[in-house]
Amino acid sequence: MLIKHSRGENNLGSKEINDNSINWKELETKWKSRWKEEHLFEADYDNTNKKKYFITVAFPYPNSPQHIGHGRTYSLADVHARYMRMKGYNVLFPMGFHYTGTPILAMSKRVIAEDQDLIGTFKNLYNVPENIIKSFIEPENIAKFFHNEIKLGMQDMGYSIDWRREFTTIDMLYSKFITWQFKTLQKKGLIVQGSHPVGWCPYDKNPVSQHDTIGDVEPEFSEYVLIKFRLDDNDIILPTATLRPETIFGVTNLWVNPDIEYFIIDVDNNAEQWIVTKEASTKLEFLNHSIKINKTIKGNELIGKFATNIISNVNIPILPAKFVKPDTGTGIVMSVPGHAPYDFQALIDLKKETNLLSFNIDLSQINPIKIIEIQEANVNDNSLILCVEDAISKFKINNQSDLGLEKATNEVYHLEYYQGRMLPNTGKYAGMDVQLAKEEIKNYLLATKNLAEIFYEFVNKPIKCRCGNECFVKLLNDQWFINYKDKEWKHKVHNYIDEVSILPEDLRQEFHNVVDWLKERACARKSGLGTKLPWDHEWIIESLSDSVIYMAYYIISKFVNEQKYSMKKSLNNIDESFFDYILLGIGNVHEVAKNCNLSISLIQEIRNEFIYFYPVDSRHSGRDLVPNHLSFFIFNHIAIFEKKFWPHQIVVNGSVLMEGKKMSKSLGNIIPLRTAIQEYGADTIRLAILISSELLQDADFSFDTARSIRIKLLEFYTLSQQILTSNFYNKVSNPNLSLDELLYVDISENEYPLELEDRWLISKLQRLINNVTRSMETLRIREALHNILYVFDQHIHWYKKRINAKKRSNDNMVNKILILCFSIRIKLLSPFAPFISEEIWNSLGNRSSVVSSKWPTVFNEKIDPLSEESDEFIKKLTLDISNIIKVTKKLPRTIYIYCSSSSKQKIYQKILKIITLTNERNFGNIMKKLIQEPESSYAKKDPSFVKKTIEDILSEPVESRSNRLNLNSLDEISIIKDSENLISKEIECENIQIIVYSEEEKEKYDPKSKSRFSRPYKPAIYLE
Ligand SMILES: [Zn+2]
Repeated sequence: MLIKHSRGENNLGSKEINDNSINWKELETKWKSRWKEEHLFEADYDNTNKKKYFITVAFPYPNSPQHIGHGRTYSLADVHARYMRMKGYNVLFPMGFHYTGTPILAMSKRVIAEDQDLIGTFKNLYNVPENIIKSFIEPENIAKFFHNEIKLGMQDMGYSIDWRREFTTIDMLYSKFITWQFKTLQKKGLIVQGSHPVGWCPYDKNPVSQHDTIGDVEPEFSEYVLIKFRLDDNDIILPTATLRPETIFGVTNLWVNPDIEYFIIDVDNNAEQWIVTKEASTKLEFLNHSIKINKTIKGNELIGKFATNIISNVNIPILPAKFVKPDTGTGIVMSVPGHAPYDFQALIDLKKETNLLSFNIDLSQINPIKIIEIQEANVNDNSLILCVEDAISKFKINNQSDLGLEKATNEVYHLEYYQGRMLPNTGKYAGMDVQLAKEEIKNYLLATKNLAEIFYEFVNKPIKCRCGNECFVKLLNDQWFINYKDKEWKHKVHNYIDEVSILPEDLRQEFHNVVDWLKERACARKSGLGTKLPWDHEWIIESLSDSVIYMAYYIISKFVNEQKYSMKKSLNNIDESFFDYILLGIGNVHEVAKNCNLSISLIQEIRNEFIYFYPVDSRHSGRDLVPNHLSFFIFNHIAIFEKKFWPHQIVVNGSVLMEGKKMSKSLGNIIPLRTAIQEYGADTIRLAILISSELLQDADFSFDTARSIRIKLLEFYTLSQQILTSNFYNKVSNPNLSLDELLYVDISENEYPLELEDRWLISKLQRLINNVTRSMETLRIREALHNILYVFDQHIHWYKKRINAKKRSNDNMVNKILILCFSIRIKLLSPFAPFISEEIWNSLGNRSSVVSSKWPTVFNEKIDPLSEESDEFIKKLTLDISNIIKVTKKLPRTIYIYCSSSSKQKIYQKILKIITLTNERNFGNIMKKLIQEPESSYAKKDPSFVKKTIEDILSEPVESRSNRLNLNSLDEISIIKDSENLISKEIECENIQIIVYSEEEKEKYDPKSKSRFSRPYKPAIYLE
């Protein structure tokens, strides 16, 4: 949703906003260099017990410049880092660059082959100079070029990164670190070698993962059981791939698509003859079957023939179905209409068209066979799906091409898997839970000769490699794997996921699911940049396996980079004992020093810094990394480090849309980050990316939003300039205090009591700080920004109405309070829009950077229930009067207001107490309680008052209820008198008389007996 905003007034009177009043570029350059000079983002081991906070983001893969979409995760982490710094933490926020993997190598090959598509992208989209493109025949040059480009972009965005810790994953010591990681995993028995399925590019002859695929899709595949039906009593096999082998008892027929071509193939050197589609025969080859194509056969040649169900030996017909796709499974489907929506619908469709068919089978004999019942179903729940028929009607399925069938299938599958029990017609499996029966039947089929095999297929196909070729599931022999299937390991990871902080919370289950389905994962390739597998140098460790514990390396890299530690000369000598000691505390420091040619004190210093900063306190990443990187990050930390070094928090964000559309090269809507900064300024881009959504939703970047944010920031800036020229506080006199702190002191030392509206605004300011702080704790960024930028404007606007009504505009106290609010808002804004905030902060006369200022605290004693409630009271009263004027359609000369009697106020307080303390809402029960006590027993005389009061209270927000409970009662008469001018201005009747009575007053003018309707906080009104 776009942020709608009105320009409104400025705090100190309105002034036209001039877009040229700021030179953003100059301002950004100034503060970037000032932050650098003052080393504000450099964090080191601190021996004064200052609390640390270690934030990391998934480091970038430098094969293209960053675009606006990349900006989200990094900006979010930077906001988090800046917030924690202001909360008083010693924040470490470092960055590295991920060179390893195959994509950069593949790009380099395409440059050598003079691929015009890629070269065009470099030239036109990324603006890479021609001579640089020529150098891209070396893969490292690609990485270096974009590394620099990305780094400059991060600096332009103002990210508060400790750049002393920068590294790349092909640095010599990093490679040694990865070698150490793999040897450690191997020692723990977590590396295995064998044949396992992987996503595979047949052209590159390499496994593929998310980094290697077009659209960055993580290949996911499922394990199917391939059941071998026999054709017409002869030896030809009709294999069908199924995820539900237990439904074999309910098979009524096979489906083939009459319009597609099938192959008869010799499988595994003539061991068997199968009929499958062309696509299936290719898939089988990648699963290590030898295939020889014998001849082709049209689907319709098979229609009307019979096949044997291998488990029951029953003959079943082969029938036609259009939903059968050549590239799904084997192209032959076993039909279970009793439990599969597709089969059910295809059978209905077929029976309708039966007159068109040329074969001679009595379709009325083919009917769904129920073999599973649902246990413990709640039959009274009408929305519940109990069988295939329910699913068909729920999703309003009309024919077998209906897209709703996919959902219907999932629901039935899910229900039967978790709640199903096998019926008596399933032989020895009768009475068994479906979950168990599925495993048992699968094992039986696989263990019996020639009945079934395992078959793999992508669930998210098609998967395309970046080289353009379609990928397959391949059974890879002699491949090295990290064994994420290890039961004990998984168990520990599940326990950890139960405990760790995950933002947003909704993702916890998704992590559990990933951990459940993770299997062995290929961890090495035959090509690409990276570290060699320590025990088998033909293999290079792949990029999602060498990037799972690198956060620990940020500690070490500082010592390598900084000249003063002169560590570079010893890099050749450093071996695994170094990492054992630094990261695990294993070994003897004297020996390590001798082995590695390093001083004992240096090793000790690195170890201390590691212990100080580790674990990672918050890990930020995009949602697409949940099924791979983030899960591997958890697994590896748990395997390698002590429990106290396991990460504390994981933060996941959604992606970014551009004007509502997915960013893609073909739509031409990929805007490089640095280009966008040039045009709009970094602060604007940061806010425009962050303000449109909460964590997990897709953010929608739009130029309208960007423009309106820029105007908002200019408004803040203009305001600061007015304060400056008003010469109110030129320089903050005490260098140890910031402007807001000074103003608080000044305001509280004021000799006169503050007016009600002053206390109200200061109270609202505490609420703002409280709300924004609460949002920040769970990174509800959109909400926080909305409060800072827009919601508080409404309060300022109202405050000004109130002071104007009292003619206080030139009151010194008013100015102080407005400037206090403004200073606090700048502080709150500074993690989001650091450049403009710093500029304003400085111009307000503060001596030190807003980066190192303290996050505003809430002063509970300044939260003022009386001023908040009286303000609400006046607002509602004004509204009530306006409404009456609207209805009567004539302007009154006098307004009579009757405030409720003290006896009504007592009853009101009593009811409020009952509702708050006992949560009682029932009229009868509340009345009973009132009558029980002598001092409120008179309530029984006025039941309608009690009833209305209960309604009044229940319609109030909880905050207001607790205010009123604290207040006991409101002096409504004097509040109205204090606001007479305001009321007449608000109802736009300037020369009106307002007369206030208490209900109890004997001598009041009350011709229509209105006063008896008055209630606390709701006076009665009479107009004349
Ligand atoms: Zn490929």
